[in-house]
Amino acid sequence: MIRSRFSHVQTWVFDLDNTLYPPEARLFDQIEVRMTDWVMRELGIDRDAANSLRRDYWHRFGTTLAGLMRLHGVDPSAYLYEVHDIDLGHLTPDPHLARGIAALPGRRIVYTNASRPYAERVVAARGLAGLFDAVYGVEHAGFHPKPERAAFEAVFATDGLSPDRAAMFEDDPRNLAAPHEMGMRTVHVAPEPTEAPHIHHHTDDLAHFLGQLAAA
Ligand SMILES: [Mg+2]
Repeated sequence: MIRSRFSHVQTWVFDLDNTLYPPEARLFDQIEVRMTDWVMRELGIDRDAANSLRRDYWHRFGTTLAGLMRLHGVDPSAYLYEVHDIDLGHLTPDPHLARGIAALPGRRIVYTNASRPYAERVVAARGLAGLFDAVYGVEHAGFHPKPERAAFEAVFATDGLSPDRAAMFEDDPRNLAAPHEMGMRTVHVAPEPTEAPHIHHHTDDLAHFLGQLAAA
């Protein structure tokens, strides 16, 4: 019974992008264009070079921004605002997901590598406003991104949550490794499963999964 595996959980931590909305919304396509444009303009390089730099930073540092800060001294605030200034018209409210989240006993938070203002816009567009006790972005981790353990530690310390009494829902398997190490229950939310020792559960339908956790 899956519910028994979560009976100790007091805090429910949700990633944002491609977790609280399906990847079919393709918001990341818009964000990626803006990130690439930003890198081209600010570093004075062409599109191919910008795309390969971004891929390289994503692998080495976790995000494009982390590499830009580390190697180019970029100011994160202007960057974060610009790359997330996108059209959310593809997002629709999800009442099924809203019911699933509302039914979870305990504290419910969002933790994203994007910024809090953007996360709050996305949460509202999905009809999930008012369901979360807190929303944290990369700015709350001193701009260290997931998957760095230090980023999770900073945000969780701010929130006051106990990882061994918490669950993490996330589409990027890399971002479940540190939570698992810290004692969290881990749920991979994605169309396809990824086999990894740090992933306890997989679902391609978050609303359905949460429905299984609701009290009978
Ligand atoms: Mg995500």
